[in-house]
Amino acid sequence: MNKKAKYIFVTGGVSSSLGKGIISASLAKLLQGRGFSVTIQKLDPYINVDPGTLNPYEHGECYVTEDGAETDLDLGHYERFSSTPTSQANNVTTGRIYLNVITKERKGEYLGTTVQVIPHITDEIKRSVQILGETGNYDFVITEIGGTVGDIESFPFVETVRQMKWELGHDCAVVHLTLVPFLKAAGELKTKPTQHSVKTMLEQGVQPDIIVCRTERVLSDGIKTKIAQFCNVTEESVIESIDAESIYDVPILMKEEKLDIVVLNKTRTKIPNEIDLANWEQFLKRLKNPKYEVDIALVGKYVELKDAYKSINEAFVHGGSANECKVNIKLIHSEQVTKATAKKLLKDMDGILVAPGFGGRGIEGKIEAIRFARENRIPFLGICLGMQCAAIEFSRNVLGHKDAHTTEIEPNTTYPVIDLMEGQKDIEEMGGTMRLGAYECKMDKNSKAFKAYQNDLVSERHRHRFEFNNAYREEFEKSGMRLAGINPKEDLVEIIELIDHPWFVGVQFHPEYKSTVRFPHPLFVDFIKAAIDYKQEK
Ligand code: GLN
Repeated sequence: MNKKAKYIFVTGGVSSSLGKGIISASLAKLLQGRGFSVTIQKLDPYINVDPGTLNPYEHGECYVTEDGAETDLDLGHYERFSSTPTSQANNVTTGRIYLNVITKERKGEYLGTTVQVIPHITDEIKRSVQILGETGNYDFVITEIGGTVGDIESFPFVETVRQMKWELGHDCAVVHLTLVPFLKAAGELKTKPTQHSVKTMLEQGVQPDIIVCRTERVLSDGIKTKIAQFCNVTEESVIESIDAESIYDVPILMKEEKLDIVVLNKTRTKIPNEIDLANWEQFLKRLKNPKYEVDIALVGKYVELKDAYKSINEAFVHGGSANECKVNIKLIHSEQVTKATAKKLLKDMDGILVAPGFGGRGIEGKIEAIRFARENRIPFLGICLGMQCAAIEFSRNVLGHKDAHTTEIEPNTTYPVIDLMEGQKDIEEMGGTMRLGAYECKMDKNSKAFKAYQNDLVSERHRHRFEFNNAYREEFEKSGMRLAGINPKEDLVEIIELIDHPWFVGVQFHPEYKSTVRFPHPLFVDFIKAAIDYKQEK
């Protein structure tokens, strides 16, 4: 293809959590709608080499790419908005940059020079950004810089932006996202934090080209003029980003504010007349005018964390829209589900999803929730640990192996229905040592999964260490659990399904990572459909 890429940086000021990821993804969507090819990258200022070893309390869900990179959850937004797969190259942390530089230093690649933040660290950052542009696949590389300008940690990233802006001229632009707060006592919106934030950028040598102002209220022309004057940008370059009902409204709001046009002008790019967002608009229309409504229990141990199950929540939004159905997700803490409470907590649900996870906390509650779904014929989807729990529940309560367990939690169980694969047994490092990324799955043509996918060979993403124990395959199949999907290369069980149940599917992989606005995941679409049917028959 050999395209010459232009580089857009998205930085943030004043406060974290302003939605840089959504703004980046929305800009990508708009540019895509105008026919450009775009990739989005996230630079994270922390020292962890990747977020794989972080628990969800730190940064929410860990998102897994096709090539098995454990990445920041913003990459999930990038894929959900743009339907373009990301990879390891799309998420780079300070830790990764330093690891690369130190590895090169140990190999003697710096030929005896003193290795320093400038130029060696900044060169490595630059290389990590340009590597995407140099593929020749993209018209635009959008790079979101994590954290807030002025943080000690983001300094080398901002310095890299300064250098690239200087080197690339009009082929590079900086979008700076700030907060314009409304002070109730004063009865007005305040621009001072934005001015200070831009000054901080200027101290580091970067003049933002476009300022996106996150706000609860409409920005008057006067406010826009003031921000333009004090921050050295044109008035068209001050973009209002008002709180939206849903993140999926943001591309449309950004289109109205002409964010894409301003970016194209800044980068001296010829502006195509047409913008095609037909699919997106169709999706929003269905999302906002549902004909049905279902309640789905999401049973997991991180219910107090908004972002722990991000991709699952979003997959329900996509699958809900496809079914013209409003999906109400009821978060249920797995530690609260017991034989005594299961009925009270779950009886009104139209579907039950048991979440992925690591470690023993709350696992008995997950198993009880699955028993309730199985016995009461409520549609059930188990993901990763959720699938493993379904295998444990079946072993204990249908096959009668009372101490069946996964060896992750009970290494001495007499019925290790979930166990490590031979090759995994002597791994000691925690980072990047799981079964990660895309693997194929071959479907049984009689299965519900096949019916949902309409395809007998699919590829899905993984993130786990433990597997269904092949020693028990026969016993499962004889007793009514279909092994509906198998990884052909390694002969691993990927999908289990109860034959005598309206919809009971456990998957070892993570379907949620692949669900996008454009391509809602077939298993989520079918699960929601089963929940609608269940509710109507109730
Ligand atoms: N803890 C389980 C394993 O490592 C499941 C992982 C998950 O749910 N992502 O196999």
